[in-house]
Amino acid sequence: MVDQTTIMKSGRCIECGALELDQYSCYEQFGFPLAWEQQNPELYALHFWLVSCYMIQHPSNFTDAGYELLVGLFRDAYDHDWDTATILGENRRRILNVGKIANPLPHEERSRTLKSWTGTINDIYIGGEARAIDNIQKWRDVIRREL
Ligand SMILES: [Zn+2]
Repeated sequence: MVDQTTIMKSGRCIECGALELDQYSCYEQFGFPLAWEQQNPELYALHFWLVSCYMIQHPSNFTDAGYELLVGLFRDAYDHDWDTATILGENRRRILNVGKIANPLPHEERSRTLKSWTGTINDIYIGGEARAIDNIQKWRDVIRREL
């Protein structure tokens, strides 16, 4: 199954290892917290973390330089506990030094390598909206440790 950013094989995302759940692909599960946060300002405050956690686990969306930018921003924001305004400002500043961010190859031609993580979008999906804030914070901690 091919969708916007992920390929599922034998019920698993071939890039982050997330399981297909309730017939939703990895990318479709990512759509749930994106919808929840629209009605939930406290959850929306974690938007950068939700998106960057997901994207860090799907490097095929990026050029090498684009991925390095993302990981560097994530690390610095985490280690220095930056607020959203600081993160967005830094991102705008750093992006000027990077040519292409997004992988220009069509999805079906991208190379994807499986990397196992302690947490994936599965945990956010399974926990549901009620536990989303907590689970996104845990996801962020896990990724920072495993980067
Ligand atoms: Zn995935």
